[in-house]
Amino acid sequence: MSGPTPLHERQGPSAFDWELLAPEERVLSTLERDGSRRWLYPRLSAGRFWQRRRVCAYSLIAVFVALPHIRVGGHPALLIDVIDRRLYLFGLTFLPTDTLSLAFLMLSAFLSIILATAIFGRVWCGWACPQTVYLEYVYRPIERLCEGTRGRGGPPGRKVAFVRRFAKYLLFVVASFGLAHTFLAYFVGAERLALWVTQSPFHHPIPFVVMAATTILMLFDFTFFREQLCLIACPYGRFQSVLLDRGSLIVGYDTRRGEPRGKLRKGEKGLPIIPAGQGDCIDCGACVRTCPTGIDIRDGLQMECVHCTQCIDACDEIMDRIDRPRGLIRYASQRRLDGESKRRLRLRLALYPLLLGLALSAFATTIYRQSPMNVTLLRATGASPFFVTEEGLVQNAIRLKLVNRAKPAGPLIVSLGDAPDGTQLDLAFEQPFALEPFESQTKSLLIAAPRTAFRAGVLDVTLLLANDNKTQVIPCRLLGP
Ligand code: SF4
Ligand code: SF4
Repeated sequence: MSGPTPLHERQGPSAFDWELLAPEERVLSTLERDGSRRWLYPRLSAGRFWQRRRVCAYSLIAVFVALPHIRVGGHPALLIDVIDRRLYLFGLTFLPTDTLSLAFLMLSAFLSIILATAIFGRVWCGWACPQTVYLEYVYRPIERLCEGTRGRGGPPGRKVAFVRRFAKYLLFVVASFGLAHTFLAYFVGAERLALWVTQSPFHHPIPFVVMAATTILMLFDFTFFREQLCLIACPYGRFQSVLLDRGSLIVGYDTRRGEPRGKLRKGEKGLPIIPAGQGDCIDCGACVRTCPTGIDIRDGLQMECVHCTQCIDACDEIMDRIDRPRGLIRYASQRRLDGESKRRLRLRLALYPLLLGLALSAFATTIYRQSPMNVTLLRATGASPFFVTEEGLVQNAIRLKLVNRAKPAGPLIVSLGDAPDGTQLDLAFEQPFALEPFESQTKSLLIAAPRTAFRAGVLDVTLLLANDNKTQVIPCRLLGP
């Protein structure tokens, strides 16, 4: 690891102030004690987990790129359409009015993350999070390729030729440009994005600015911010202590096997040996040098650990070299690492699937009961909610907001359903009418009912919306004296 000279080692009058202000221990793995950034250049450990993660990472990148282009039911497989305010999700379409189904969908996603974390720990962070995937398998390989490394995968040499550094930043810009477009395709759609890209920026100045800003944001993240996103910006790591328990799978150091740690000594035949009474950890520091968040796994489970498995690969390599069994650092539960072999009932593993099942069932029910036409009744704005006519009828002005969420709808006809004798419906629009897919229209109408039909100031009637050969019943509460 290399970085700027810590302040306390520098000469000058500020050294005294620093000693007064410096915290006793390191606050964050990426901060020097004087508050300056500690730049991390983790050494690459290309062991078996890294190879598996590489397959997983490039497959995921292919999925990230392809998903906005894959169509299910005539729509993108995943599109959070911020312009038209719709969400397309594997054949399902959600509108802003689908509050209940969206709430159950979010709840199901949230519970799935909680359940996956309780079982597999931070498997998402280490294996699938786009931040890890792109940083470790796109940006760092570019950096190593251009700037070279000292040893195998360590920090670059002190002096990196300008042309090499320039090539690195150029490739970073290209990668950020591609990534920004992939990212934006999830919010504006692949077709619209293609149109923006192929036409002059003067035709689409705002999208051009958005694309440029997103590219700069990606560049900033992967060039400068990097692991800081996981350490200080992402809330998931902070929830770790409540989401994990002693039975969750973590990347952990086997203290019972590794301690007391110590250096190798020369044996009788001049070969290095682990002295009697010493643990298997030879304090080589390989697990620390390889860590992309700059921590020492031997200090126990830490919030900064993204479970990337690099320390497992690094330590396994050392164990192979000193002829000791692999797995001094390994995937295991804290309980296993502490030597407990007895399985225990984990209440959360019963509770979380139950809650997830309930949330998914509620979500499925709302989808099943979803009508192809969203109808919302709005009261006309005005000083009084009702008006008494000369004939003694109580008149309510109603607005009918219709959103067609399926194929073209029509001919549509609105009529009166259940209502007391003498009730009149007065429409302020032409019938029949039609709605294109996802078209929204608001229709005004007047309903006048006999005063004697109202009880405690209200009267419940129904309207009928006939769509082709189907009829939708719309409950409507009238207000009266
Ligand atoms: S890599 Fe293994 S042996 Fe080396 S310091 Fe880390 S835990 Fe100890
Ligand atoms: S401690 Fe190990 S698993 Fe955790 S972030 Fe560092 S290298 Fe990755």
